[in-house]
Amino acid sequence: MKILVTGGAGFIGSAVVRHIINNTQDEVINLDKLTYAGNLESLASIDQNPRYRFEQVDICNRQALDRIFHEHQPDAVMHLAAESHVDRSIDGPAAFIETNILGTYQLLEASRDYWKNLPEAGKAAFRFHHISTDEVYGDLEGPEDLFTETTPYAPSSPYSASKASSDHLVRAWRRTYGLPTLVTNCSNNYGPYHFPEKLIPLVILNALEGKPLPVYGKGNQIRDWLFVEDHARALYKVVTEGKVGETYNIGGHNEKQNIEVVHKICELLDELRPLNSTNLPIKYHKELITFVTDRPGHDLRYAIDASKIKRELGWVPEETFDSGIRKTVIWYLENLNWAHRVQDGSYQRERLGTQQ
Ligand code: NAD
Repeated sequence: MKILVTGGAGFIGSAVVRHIINNTQDEVINLDKLTYAGNLESLASIDQNPRYRFEQVDICNRQALDRIFHEHQPDAVMHLAAESHVDRSIDGPAAFIETNILGTYQLLEASRDYWKNLPEAGKAAFRFHHISTDEVYGDLEGPEDLFTETTPYAPSSPYSASKASSDHLVRAWRRTYGLPTLVTNCSNNYGPYHFPEKLIPLVILNALEGKPLPVYGKGNQIRDWLFVEDHARALYKVVTEGKVGETYNIGGHNEKQNIEVVHKICELLDELRPLNSTNLPIKYHKELITFVTDRPGHDLRYAIDASKIKRELGWVPEETFDSGIRKTVIWYLENLNWAHRVQDGSYQRERLGTQQ
């Protein structure tokens, strides 16, 4: 199978590309604009594989999309390209509307034009898999409530509203034009190659440098955490075995308050990189925790009911939060060069791979 992955240079997209190249015989075309969040160095372990190709393309550029479909003739699209950082969407929503809504629209139209001209067998086998977030559901009220595939949409931030819009477009293209689509909504991911602006890598990297560990409000926001490689496995299962027209929620059954996550990272660093081997005037990493003003409209609790994907496709996460976060902290300790090249911008200055 030949899969067109959009956003394959991002955090989850690169995990999906590595998963497909390392574990299947499928071919991957990675279509990515390379915004600040796109980092081809996350694909260095597979980018020489003959089954992998890279195309630097903006999903808002319809002509370029048509060329990609024509040249590569994919069997499936896995659509991950997006603006993804909630804080950035509050400071500047325009890019989120452009990429997440208009870009998804352009990709749907390019896919539809390509798909409707395929021979019957190819037409029946084609899949358009849209990757989305549980943030489209807003936040949960009761402590026991869970998001299911039928929970009404109630997005709170410009990011989640733009993702909700794109989910609706994808479902409408299924209903109106018959495009064989699938949608997945997933909880918060963490793991290797995560951009240092996000909570977990930010805390690890700041703690290693003895910098403050910023925690919004009281740190009591609850998120359901999923190890990114478990997500990549789930996504591949959905695009290859999922039922057309269906939505699958994906989650890790790992509900944690943000402050618990920060404490866990501090404990792991106390064990793996004790402070007595540094010049810092503190004994434990948790002494670096600093509470900062909460984000406007911050959702309090997200939690996913992932029983449908377990029941219908047999997917369950392999990592617990304890095993996944330990792997993640160790990965950052062993790959500080990757993180430092993101932090000092050299990953953008010295792009690897094809440039247009
Ligand atoms: P990311 O920000 O790390 O990566 C996004 C990628 O998309 C980057 O490589 C970027 O260069 C590319 N991109 C952005 N705009 C583009 C455009 N106009 N054209 C082509 N490429 C473009 O994001 P991520 O965390 O890997 O998330 C991937 C997808 O998964 C997103 O759709 C996001 O909404 C969804 N998601 C993320 C999480 C999470 O916890 N990170 C959870 C659930 C769902």
